[in-house]
Amino acid sequence: MPTDQQDKACVEMRMVDGVAVLTIRNPPVNAGSHAVRKGLADGLAEAARNGASGVVIIGDGRCFIAGSDLKEFDSKLEWPELPDVIRLVEDAPFPVVAAMHGVALGGGLELALGCDYRLAAPHTMVGLPEVGLGFVPGAGGTQRLPRLTGLARAIDLICAARRIPAGEALAIGLVDRVVEGDLLAGALAFLAEAARPKRAALALSPPTDDPAAVDAAADKALSRGKGRPNVAEVIRLIRRAAEADGRDALADERAVFQRLRVAEDATALRHLFFSERRAGVVDGLDMGLARAIGSVGVIGGGTMGQGIVRCFLAAGLPVILIERDEDSLANAVSAVRASLDAAVEKGRLAPDEAARRNAALTGATDFAALSGCDLAIEAVFEDMAVKRDVLGRLERVLAQDAMLATNTSYLDINAMAEGLAHKGRVAGLHFFSPADVMPLIEVVRANATDDATLATALKLARKLGKQPVVARVAEGFIGNRIYAAYRRRAELLVLDGATPQQVDRAATAFGFAMGPFAVSDMSGLDIAWAMRKRQAPTRDPAARYVTIPDTLCEMGRLGRKTKGGWYDYPEGKPVPSDQVADVIDKARQAAGIAPAEIEEDVIQRQLLAAIVNEAALLLAEGVAQRPSDVDVTLCNGYGFPRFRGGPLWWAAHQDRAVIAGDQARLAEAIGHGFAAGPVDKVLNDIVEERKG
Ligand code: NAD
Repeated sequence: MPTDQQDKACVEMRMVDGVAVLTIRNPPVNAGSHAVRKGLADGLAEAARNGASGVVIIGDGRCFIAGSDLKEFDSKLEWPELPDVIRLVEDAPFPVVAAMHGVALGGGLELALGCDYRLAAPHTMVGLPEVGLGFVPGAGGTQRLPRLTGLARAIDLICAARRIPAGEALAIGLVDRVVEGDLLAGALAFLAEAARPKRAALALSPPTDDPAAVDAAADKALSRGKGRPNVAEVIRLIRRAAEADGRDALADERAVFQRLRVAEDATALRHLFFSERRAGVVDGLDMGLARAIGSVGVIGGGTMGQGIVRCFLAAGLPVILIERDEDSLANAVSAVRASLDAAVEKGRLAPDEAARRNAALTGATDFAALSGCDLAIEAVFEDMAVKRDVLGRLERVLAQDAMLATNTSYLDINAMAEGLAHKGRVAGLHFFSPADVMPLIEVVRANATDDATLATALKLARKLGKQPVVARVAEGFIGNRIYAAYRRRAELLVLDGATPQQVDRAATAFGFAMGPFAVSDMSGLDIAWAMRKRQAPTRDPAARYVTIPDTLCEMGRLGRKTKGGWYDYPEGKPVPSDQVADVIDKARQAAGIAPAEIEEDVIQRQLLAAIVNEAALLLAEGVAQRPSDVDVTLCNGYGFPRFRGGPLWWAAHQDRAVIAGDQARLAEAIGHGFAAGPVDKVLNDIVEERKG
């Protein structure tokens, strides 16, 4: 239980010219904890006792309120809950103004919506992210917001968990004024310049949208929401904002909120929320060692290099792109510039921002151009000799403390750095394709990587707006290594009787964005083919091996880019391929396999079993720091459904006897050479990690 003293420390009340100013002080982000709620309730009472003519609620530090304190959400919430505080605001005898800066999200925005007036500093972002966290706004957001913006817009904003800037919030009626300059002075002036009557949003007349527009917004939100229960519920609640008296709907909203915040989806998403924050932390690492990165060199302007360039430019960093020759350089630079132009054309990028990014990009073929860079990252061919040569050349031109990074997908970074004079400054920065869109970066810590380099990489990942996960060197690090085991199981399922379509359907029915074969077709079958060829000399000849993808590659069926892979693409859309069915038949005959019917549920559980076992193996080897890092990796880089919390969270909440059965079946299917990971221990660990 927080003490009164803590409550007071969280919200300070002072009188300024007859107005009570309530300042929220709960660093780092003024989360709306119990102490904050209690402090606000006490502050409002004290304001009344002091005969205040009005109240301004404002945040100290970075923001207004970044949301409710999710740490409290696993158990019963203590009085006063947020709706209690909002009722005090509405019942107060004086007008209450929310003065927002930084962010006002979730419960923070709901508090502001419960105030009589809302003011915002120019760069403030506001939104209701609850739907993305598996539940619904529970303090009137579904009733007050639509009364200000209309139903259709509210459905869009709330269901997409959209954050909008102050200017847009002003335009749609969510904010009454954008205040330039000192926010508190602006709020006091707002109260002083005219009589400001009480004006509760709930007392405004209900919205009168065109029903067709509301239906269209609801349909769009439902299809985007993957049929999750909270999406249907939140739409139903928002529609209720059209009722004349909002009190019934408010009670309904609170009941739904209380039920869903402790249900499966929200619990899993909360696990991810905390895991994502922890994944960027290395215990004991001094982040103060991080070096500033002011300019970047990118070597290799292919698929990944171009995406990496766009990512750095978007983060405001100047980039020098290096290619092998003038032609390749011109192609790569013009491809990046063309993508900026296309973004402007689609209205996704302001023309002056595109011009700034264009000016921040230069190209060269001579490594000497990189001499002033603080970081150089290579994205050249996946070939050890080429990468070693590039790192050697970088070491000769860059300053001694500049960071050298590799974007390798699989290669041994320890071996890559061998021979360099300063190995400590080398680390992996493994981006995912397209690098400017995908949120994940695996920060790979080689044996010699020093603390300053690791800290620099983690800080840089956040500056780029990415989700870092720390991995040790291993073939495929965390994500690609697990994915290889998953893909191998998928291929064995096909060899044993399933069709690629059945396997893909089972994966998408579980919630994956795409099935494993559709993914292979998209990224190209040749990447894994190259890896298999590299591993061929050390492969155990007694282990089961699926020849089908090798045959497809030999036939030139490399995926979408060759208009055929596991599927045919006659009109750009995947359809089952007779050619592939023939290859599969022949492979089964060669292996002496009589194809069996495999049920969708078994396919799903076997795909998951392969992921969980490989994760347990790599955790035992220390490749990942903690079980939750695996969940963060799969959800941010591999299309694993977020609402399931990641593979380990999902498995930890299944019947252990069933998981053991899945593992036994996996062992049988893989056969010779199967390595069993400590699955039970890892699943216990992830539950313990959450409790801690
Ligand atoms: P790519 O073949 O599209 O591009 C490689 C580029 O590097 C080419 O443009 C080539 O001209 C250039 N290059 C080669 N040697 C060079 C040198 N010595 N100096 C300057 N430029 C040179 O390959 P990609 O798909 O962009 O992959 C690049 C790296 O990123 C690989 O290590 C790959 O494993 C990794 N990666 C790829 C993906 C993906 O999905 N494609 C994802 C993550 C990581």
